[in-house]
Amino acid sequence: MQGLITKSTGSWYQVQTNGGQIIDCRIKGKFRTKGIVTTNPIAVGDVVDFEMEPEQETGVITNLQQRKNYIIRKSINLSKQAQIIAANLDQALLVVTLASPRTSLGFIDRFLVTAEAYDIPARLVFNKLDLFSDEGLEILDEYKAVYEKIGYPCYQVSALEGTNIEKVQALLKDKVTLFSGHSGVGKSSLINRLLPDLELRTHQVSDWSDKGMHTTTFAEAFELPQGGFIIDTPGIRELGVIDIEKQELSHFFPEMRQRMHDCRFNNCRHINEPGCAVLEAVENGEIELSRYESYLSIYNGNDTRA
Ligand code: GDP
Ligand code: ZN
Repeated sequence: MQGLITKSTGSWYQVQTNGGQIIDCRIKGKFRTKGIVTTNPIAVGDVVDFEMEPEQETGVITNLQQRKNYIIRKSINLSKQAQIIAANLDQALLVVTLASPRTSLGFIDRFLVTAEAYDIPARLVFNKLDLFSDEGLEILDEYKAVYEKIGYPCYQVSALEGTNIEKVQALLKDKVTLFSGHSGVGKSSLINRLLPDLELRTHQVSDWSDKGMHTTTFAEAFELPQGGFIIDTPGIRELGVIDIEKQELSHFFPEMRQRMHDCRFNNCRHINEPGCAVLEAVENGEIELSRYESYLSIYNGNDTRA
């Protein structure tokens, strides 16, 4: 049988079949991820083959299907090890807000760079629309213009009042979507809006505790009523950009990627080189200054986490 991992603790895995059946499974044998040493072999979003254990309601995972992509987190203590947070993502959605607490542009840009590096299409959702003054709405329009111009669709919603939730629902339909966001932006409120069935969520957790299963999870997938899954990553504040080489960084800014072939030097850092097409675009306003500042900040390792 085949299924999708919707929750993992490291020893138990919750597998959902195409038919919607949920089976708790263990793994048998070794599963390796090419290129990195991982602390967990299988993650939320993975597609696996499994067999039922004889005369049990639990299963055994026998095979991991090839991943389309995955995101990792480096272990803080063991620098050579990484934890796979989630796999097979169709898109990544960052919930931000301009009102209490305002999300910084640097934070948004780091997220977008990470999504580019993982090759996952990113979208921005500006929440707490109900709190915006007229002036706030103008700033919002400016921000949206900056990000939409470089290929990141933007949505404006109020999780509190339900404004434009149907637009987010349409975006999520039949897709596996990673949800991220700084704490306080209203990510949980938005997820609650999208998943009216949250009682189920609480039940599942207590169920696992009853079985003596460790319930510390880093990511969990929730099925949407209209089809598709939300992957929430509680406790993960920010996806890291630690693996990006400085020389590669500009590849992850679409507006720089598009222009850098016109730079005079092919190893241009786009900092102070003569004949730099990127600097020229910043000067004439084609590249947004805030985006370029984020580039410099990441390049120089001034990763001030606002
Ligand atoms: P999270 O930390 O991102 O999961 O944020 P929460 O969903 O817990 O929300 C943080 C706070 O913002 C709570 O007090 C929410 O009631 C409030 N909040 C969330 N969404 C909205 C919204 O659209 N408008 C307003 N005014 N408040 C909101
Ligand atoms: Zn250049």
